[in-house]
Amino acid sequence: MDAFERLCLLSNEMAWEADEELSSCPSSHPLSPERHILVYQAKTPRGKSIRLLKTLLSSACERDCYYCPFRAGRNHRRATFRPEEFARLFIQLHQAGIAEGLFLSSGLAGGGVRTQDKLLDTADILRNKLGYRGYLHLKLMPGADKDQVLRAMQLADRVSINLEAPNAERLSQLAPHKGFFDEILQPLQWVEQLRRTQPSNQGWQGRWPSVVTQLVLGAAGESDLEILQTSEWLFRSLRLSRTYYSPFQPVPDTPLENHPPADRLRQRRLYQASFLLRDYGFRLSDLTFGNDSNLPLGIDPKTAYADRYLRETPVEINRATPQQLLRVPGIGPQGVQRILQARQHTRLTDLSQLKKLGVQTHRAAPYLLLNGRRPIRQLRFAGMTPA
Ligand code: SF4
Repeated sequence: MDAFERLCLLSNEMAWEADEELSSCPSSHPLSPERHILVYQAKTPRGKSIRLLKTLLSSACERDCYYCPFRAGRNHRRATFRPEEFARLFIQLHQAGIAEGLFLSSGLAGGGVRTQDKLLDTADILRNKLGYRGYLHLKLMPGADKDQVLRAMQLADRVSINLEAPNAERLSQLAPHKGFFDEILQPLQWVEQLRRTQPSNQGWQGRWPSVVTQLVLGAAGESDLEILQTSEWLFRSLRLSRTYYSPFQPVPDTPLENHPPADRLRQRRLYQASFLLRDYGFRLSDLTFGNDSNLPLGIDPKTAYADRYLRETPVEINRATPQQLLRVPGIGPQGVQRILQARQHTRLTDLSQLKKLGVQTHRAAPYLLLNGRRPIRQLRFAGMTPA
């Protein structure tokens, strides 16, 4: 296979990796009449929209994770790049305007340390030999050592390592040869330790990278409670920017080929709950779980909270603290700021005022008081149905 053919093969196989804010389906870019690579419209951690190439340096892997298309022994067409070869190919695509950013991962060959070295060599050539200044998301390999983690943090805008499962017991059902604590959690802990103890001007462009992880959803019988317990800990203790939940899809010729795919609505509810934990000041104990320790699918977690705690004791919009406002469905962090500003020069007495401030009034109204009055009647008058 020539280099373009290998890149097409590797980039087309990365659709299952969720580790980025992707704002659209990938678009196909022709490299020749028969060869196309996939490029994603993605948001960087700083909110910039870019065209992102997601690819592997190699799809050869010595591990045998039960869900993975690249697992060892599976009959699969593989491809591998050498670091310099890949870096030079990518810089051509970057200079041609096809890809503005790069997400680079790899299958494991020769152990985590050796594979990480190849990813680091690639990043180093891109940054220091070819002058690449664009966005770089670099994967940490299971088993990478601390110096390698530091080097990755000095080269990348974002680093990540996939936890795959919420705890060691669940991981053993998915990837029996991956060490949950020593191979995966340890590098994530080093990232946070380095961010806390070393000056941030050692990082790429004077700041440390953001860090994210990904869990496979629905393949190991894990509950939402287990996933969110781990997510909450990752947000609070290791300051992860995001935990991605990748819905399991059965892959032919793997041990889980007959396992049912994960429910997309479950993924949505988990994201909603994780944002409440990360951005809205919720604790795990504020969330409602069923007897099976899963979130109810029929109601979003914030509305479930409000039904339980706010319907009988609504929040007075003119007096509530920012934390209380954030608990009301239909009011987000931006809405809270706008409400606080508006309160400095006016009293809020009407839903139309809130609507102008960006509040989703049909969701918020059942849990609010406007100047001591419930606004439900205003909502009915406006022909809107309360949630
Ligand atoms: S180590 Fe990574 S690439 Fe290899 S089988 Fe496991 S998930 Fe797949």
